[in-house]
Amino acid sequence: MKIVLLLLDGLGDRPHSILKGKTPLEYANTPNLDRLCKNAETGIMIPWKQGLPLGTEVAHFILFGYDMKEFPGRGIINALSRDVEIEEKAVYLCTSWAWVEEKDGLFIEERFTEDLSTEEILELMKLLPKSVNNYSFKWQQSIGIHGVLEIKGENISSDISDSDPFYDNSYVMTVEPFESNSSSAIETAEALNIFLKKVYRALNASEINQKRKQNGKQPANFLLTKWAGRKPDLLNFEEKHGLKACIVSSGILMYGIAKLLGMDFIKYNSFSEGVNLALKSDYDFIHLHTKETDEAAHTKDPRNKVKVLEEIDSQIGPLVESALNEDIFLVVTGDHTTPSFGPMIHSGEPVPIMFIGKNTRVDYVDTFGERSCTRGSIRMYGSDLMQMLLNYTDRAQFYNYRQGSKQLNHIPKKINKFCP
Ligand SMILES: [Zn+2]
Repeated sequence: MKIVLLLLDGLGDRPHSILKGKTPLEYANTPNLDRLCKNAETGIMIPWKQGLPLGTEVAHFILFGYDMKEFPGRGIINALSRDVEIEEKAVYLCTSWAWVEEKDGLFIEERFTEDLSTEEILELMKLLPKSVNNYSFKWQQSIGIHGVLEIKGENISSDISDSDPFYDNSYVMTVEPFESNSSSAIETAEALNIFLKKVYRALNASEINQKRKQNGKQPANFLLTKWAGRKPDLLNFEEKHGLKACIVSSGILMYGIAKLLGMDFIKYNSFSEGVNLALKSDYDFIHLHTKETDEAAHTKDPRNKVKVLEEIDSQIGPLVESALNEDIFLVVTGDHTTPSFGPMIHSGEPVPIMFIGKNTRVDYVDTFGERSCTRGSIRMYGSDLMQMLLNYTDRAQFYNYRQGSKQLNHIPKKINKFCP
């Protein structure tokens, strides 16, 4: 039985007076989701820990059954998503060109100097130091003003903090060893701080930035860094769960996650095309992802999320038919909560979830929403999802059976045959 996980990114939300005290999902007119819900086992899922806001990459890592202790850092996912060749003795950081002013430190006037042309970016890139101490530095553009910084050296560590404070009205932060006192973390942080000082001096004095200031434009006189990551040693998704898997998405981050976990990636141009691709493609596990819900919430107008949810709902008809015919096993949920108002970027509430297909204990919830689903039968964590899907689809391994050299969560497709 093919499993389809329909993941509406940042689905969870908070009630708002503009929506008569409802959340966008509760307020939206979603007949298809509600039809599924009437035929589903429903409940709520805590993405990782109660009250803890997560980014999409972390939430997905957990949903796909991986332990956060193994998480390699977002920098590596971004690097993979741009097809950067990953080396062993290197770390990868996400960067953006920024405007800073010296005010008792480097005050960040603008985290993103948005209007840089590609020619300007290439010129700025030439001004970056190539090496500091025993480390070499290489910057590559990803999208627009965003890029990936590679730091390479013998004594290298990704356990270093960010120079980008992430929030507005703040200062560039000193890079420190992060949760580590290893010599590699100390030396990598030290080299990066020296690199960033040189970057500031070179960019601030550069001709490009003098010209930009004269023309009334914001200068790009700093390179903010964050989310250092390193090549991980992870089991790929199929080894871990016994499922041939792919991600169907339009997002570049999802491409990076697929590469990280050895899943195939299918890109769609419109969500309705994604629905058809998910139904047509030949995999055991298909992750059908849309970022539209999260992006709508980031506009900080709950009505935009309502609109997007209604549009998505109107496009999932074929998925509903397949699930109700038991041609596929369908699960619908979000990866985290993105409040569509207030100062939080993401927040830490649980998300609603529903399972549709054979072997489900259909319960009595008939509308898909954050609060209606609390009347359903399931209370779960994101880390439970893969085991539950293996169980629903009759693939779960009887606990403590020893089929091969490792404890498996699934009945293996192949065994190591004994030869007489
Ligand atoms: Zn988001």
